[in-house]
Amino acid sequence: MKPAVAVIGGGWAGCTAALTVAEAGVAVTLYEASRTLGGRARSVELEGRSLDNGQHILLGAYEQTLQLIERLHPATTQHGLWRLPLTLKQPPDFSFACPPLPAPLHLLAGLLTARGLNWGEKLAAARWAHALLNKTDSLDHLSVSQLTRSQPEKLCRLLWHPLCVSALNTPPQTASARVFRDVVCAAFGGRRHHSDLLLPRRDLTALLPAPAAARLVELGGEVRMACRVTALDAAADGITLTTHDGSAVYSHIVVAVAPQHLAALAAPVAALQSLAGEVGAYRYQPIATGYVQYDPAFRLAAPLFALAGGPAQFVFDRGQSHGQAGLLAFVASAAANLSADWLDEAEIQLQRFAEPGPARWRRRIIEKNATYACVPGLARPAVCTAHPRIFLAGDYTAGPYPATLESATQSGVQSAGALLEKL
Ligand SMILES: Cc1cc2nc3c(=O)[nH]c(=O)nc-3n(C[C@H](O)[C@H](O)[C@H](O)COP(=O)(O)OP(=O)(O)OC[C@H]3O[C@@H](n4cnc5c(N)ncnc54)[C@H](O)[C@@H]3O)c2cc1C
Repeated sequence: MKPAVAVIGGGWAGCTAALTVAEAGVAVTLYEASRTLGGRARSVELEGRSLDNGQHILLGAYEQTLQLIERLHPATTQHGLWRLPLTLKQPPDFSFACPPLPAPLHLLAGLLTARGLNWGEKLAAARWAHALLNKTDSLDHLSVSQLTRSQPEKLCRLLWHPLCVSALNTPPQTASARVFRDVVCAAFGGRRHHSDLLLPRRDLTALLPAPAAARLVELGGEVRMACRVTALDAAADGITLTTHDGSAVYSHIVVAVAPQHLAALAAPVAALQSLAGEVGAYRYQPIATGYVQYDPAFRLAAPLFALAGGPAQFVFDRGQSHGQAGLLAFVASAAANLSADWLDEAEIQLQRFAEPGPARWRRRIIEKNATYACVPGLARPAVCTAHPRIFLAGDYTAGPYPATLESATQSGVQSAGALLEKL
């Protein structure tokens, strides 16, 4: 059979995989169940406002994702993402900024000059961070709480545990120490710019999935929107996909659905049954984003602030990043036990250091299964499966990062590469 590839799922992993296959000159069809590309990082239209399903932030270390965005927006990258040297301001008690020194000196200097810590705490933080960056033990069965046990309570509360919740979307009591160490090393153990924060300046679908799909079509590929794949039938010489409007046979496929949707497609395929069982055992963590419109004249003193003592960990000023004057996004990660009035509480967190006035419009988006719980010892599958014609892409496949845009795009490139090698 002439090579013909189907990619199931138009999230960041699927769009990356499909584009990589198409750029190698192979025919590819991308199937997406919903009417919008981007999956868990997509644009959402709410009452005339262009929003995202959740406020996202990227790290300078996300090299695969950043290269791809740059390639897809050659003339406009500066406007697609806003690069900020790492600063964590949590008024009124704490702030931390990395000065322009080579890594990891910038982290150590940042900790030694942090505001809100005494000298004992600063030294304890710098020594511990230095040891973590050089730690070679496997840490496989430790949680982040166990890893940070020797650190003063204040450092855990202000720094290490919020960092864990934001990066792994998993509470420190159950989060993997190994993955936490890997994220800290990726951000602080390489080049200085790896710890930069990058804020999207446009909606998430427009940042990567939509231009990737447009390029795919230019290359002769096909994108089938609102087209859910309902069944796979795997034979030795090809894979048949079934959708609401019939079936089609492909030489190879990439399954790029979220892990919670994998079992339904994989379980009936004999070669994928143990994979379906393994991924079917994952647990998930929610992320809540609350959008609040204040007077358009209101702006925060910086594009984002960390928040203490409440359900939200961050507040972002979409006026500064997206030109949506007066619109703030409050983010609560690992948000399993949110109360019904969590957004009221998040607004009170903000009012400790800003006076935005009364809210004019508010909406909450809660992604219940935002990411898998990144727990110690979690088995993450490789992109190659036990079936030689079926490949995986997605933020849950094996890799150094937790569930992030970078793990999604890295897996997309790897999956396409492994598939192309088989042709
Ligand atoms: C609220 C929120 C905030 C986040 N914040 C950050 C952040 O700040 N930084 C960061 O790096 N990451 C963040 N993440 C994580 C990041 O969004 C995900 O890791 C990434 O988007 C996963 O991409 P994916 O392509 O692997 O999976 P998905 O995005 O889940 O894509 C899977 C796609 O498959 C489609 N699909 C499913 N079943 C079928 C089927 N049968 N047929 C056809 N299509 C199907 C789905 O509709 C979906 O489009 C956040 C996630 C959420 C939800």
